[in-house]
Amino acid sequence: MHIVCSDCQTEYPLDTRLWKCARCGGLFEIADAPRFDPARIDRNERSLWRYRAFLPLPPDAAPVTLGEGWTPLVDFEHAGVRALGKLDFINPTGSFKDRGASVQISLLRMFGVTRIVEDSSGNAAAAISAYAARAKIHADIFVPAHASPAKIAQIEVYGARVHRIEGPRENCALAAQEIATRGEAYYASHYYSPLGLAGLRTAAYEIWEQLDGRAPDNVVVPTAHGTNVIGIYRGFQEIRAAGLIEKMPRLFAIQAANVAPLALAFALGLADAPASEPKPTVAEGIAIAKPVRGREILRGVKETGGAVIAVGEDEILQARNDLARQGFYIEPTSASAAAALKQVRERIGADDVTVVSLTGSGLKSG
Ligand SMILES: [Zn+2]
Repeated sequence: MHIVCSDCQTEYPLDTRLWKCARCGGLFEIADAPRFDPARIDRNERSLWRYRAFLPLPPDAAPVTLGEGWTPLVDFEHAGVRALGKLDFINPTGSFKDRGASVQISLLRMFGVTRIVEDSSGNAAAAISAYAARAKIHADIFVPAHASPAKIAQIEVYGARVHRIEGPRENCALAAQEIATRGEAYYASHYYSPLGLAGLRTAAYEIWEQLDGRAPDNVVVPTAHGTNVIGIYRGFQEIRAAGLIEKMPRLFAIQAANVAPLALAFALGLADAPASEPKPTVAEGIAIAKPVRGREILRGVKETGGAVIAVGEDEILQARNDLARQGFYIEPTSASAAAALKQVRERIGADDVTVVSLTGSGLKSG
């Protein structure tokens, strides 16, 4: 395995300290990574490491794990749509980000990395901090000054050093990248790194197993940089390439209307998200004005017959409350996906199987 630029195909070693192509600025992918193979699932392992044979961790390296993944699918109803919630908010740190962090930190420990930097509005940073703690790697985390106090407290308790950065969200990325550029730390970005992205494919594998070897008709995912929706998209692509399903589920990527560059791009038929001016939103986890992986998200949504949908603040809070009345305590960012069902309903069949990724715990949104 090695790293390859998705644009100009320049190759780099798997443990490169760069986070994007030095030649053209393109995004990295892992070349020659193992692919989904149902015969190699370790069915006794009740975490995402049941898919270890096709995760990009060499066989002689030990995973850094807290038992993440293999989360339940549980039914709920919202806006007249019966759906299955993929309960990724019950992962060890309270969000789906553990899927990526476990795989990414496992590889970084194998590389001998001792210090990482990361920028995040909260959930990714909490996940990276927890797995870094478990791997005894020092983490410096750059968070927006307005990030949820509950999320910042969680990051600090794991032992990471938190740096609060004023101004737009992008300032956090620049601060982390500056340290990485000086060679003082590895930039463990959850959205640039293809290492973590590999772990996010496991949600699709699990859904396929949990539906007894079928794909759902629709998957609905809250979307910022898009690592979750892309992970699920790639996971189902592999399952289809293995001849196990005939058609891809429709992908619905959900944004808050106040920060909706992808929804705008989808409505206008653009190939990538235009620069946008974000307004405040309760869905802080998806408040990204310039998604790094916009092109792939838009391609995946179009290819599968899905859509990018924007939801209003009131709709998000109503969905949060409606799901709580059914027993699910999720953060507003996650509730945006459920809130979108009102619009998704117009685009799907009445008897469709619809999975909604419930990404983050309500306990962190205080
Ligand atoms: Zn390149």
